[in-house]
Amino acid sequence: MLTRQTRIVLNAALLITLLVSIMVGLILYLFNDSLSITLILSILLATFLCSYFVLLAVYQKHFEKHFDRIYKSIVKLRNQSQPLHDLSTSNDNIVTHINNILIEWSNESREEIDHLKQVETYRREFLTNVSHELKTPIFSAQGYVHTLIDGGIDDRDINMLYLQKASRSIDRLIDIVDDLESISRLEAGDLIIEPRTFDIGNLADDVVESLELQAKERNVKLILKDQGEQCYVYADKDLIRQVLVNLIVNSIKYGKRDGQTEIRYQYIGEQVIVDVEDNGIGIEKSHLPRLFERFYRVDKSRSRDQGGTGLGLAIVKHILEAHQQTITVTSEINKGTTFSFSLKRSK
Ligand code: ADP
Repeated sequence: MLTRQTRIVLNAALLITLLVSIMVGLILYLFNDSLSITLILSILLATFLCSYFVLLAVYQKHFEKHFDRIYKSIVKLRNQSQPLHDLSTSNDNIVTHINNILIEWSNESREEIDHLKQVETYRREFLTNVSHELKTPIFSAQGYVHTLIDGGIDDRDINMLYLQKASRSIDRLIDIVDDLESISRLEAGDLIIEPRTFDIGNLADDVVESLELQAKERNVKLILKDQGEQCYVYADKDLIRQVLVNLIVNSIKYGKRDGQTEIRYQYIGEQVIVDVEDNGIGIEKSHLPRLFERFYRVDKSRSRDQGGTGLGLAIVKHILEAHQQTITVTSEINKGTTFSFSLKRSK
């Protein structure tokens, strides 16, 4: 099979040979001369071979120079370092190779553009959500402060109450800003995990104790299932504390008044599985796939009434992902919800 380059050079050499044979014929005819057929054939063969090899050399030099320049530009733009002459011996192979590189490059660029578009959408949504989240407590605090300025400060029935409400709105603002700070650190991948071996039962006990008061407000019983032995995990203790706090606080917020939350942990192979189970309002199945997204809420007003920022579960997921671990959720409306996450077992 002839390559494209050989075909072009061969055709050009044949054309030149044809022209030379016409010229020779014309000269012989005009000068009424004659030559032996062997000599004529030798001249034509010599013409063909000379023109073929000269054209081939010119073609290769010309194209190699151009392809090399194109290739070098591509290499420079893509920061690659593969030299052209290593890739192939014929110009056809070089063309195919450059073509493949360009196709690959255009696919990569398309992926990059899609990614940038996603980032842009994410950024826009994030800003809209943040400003929306911040507006509610800011306007609420502003409302109470203005009422106090407009004379409410002298009204003994409302002055203390409104100050307390404004203060609660400011506390909520601080919670939102704290969660935003955590999530942006987690999403930027700036978080440095400092894993160590600790007893998860001990940590869960600590967390339960610290949330006892909050649970009492809704008369929710926090039950830590004692495994009877220590259960060691290898993880960042402070971050896992945050995971437990977020999940248990949610179980109190969205649990039944007078209900209960059970915290269990057990070794499964090389992992420890921790469950936080409540018997609260539950979550409809359609919401479960989006539950760990930033600002996703099932019941917006209930979440805000309970002081939720909509970031708690997104933070939990990021922390576990940073540990290369996972979290799952199962739920049934009016029966309750169970969050289960894995941790690396430590010897
Ligand atoms: P929030 O600050 O709103 O609580 P989260 O990210 O912690 O944000 O939770 C997202 C949403 O998931 C909540 O708004 C709530 O609707 C739902 N949710 C979380 N935990 C539970 C639970 N234990 N039971 C029922 N719904 C829950």
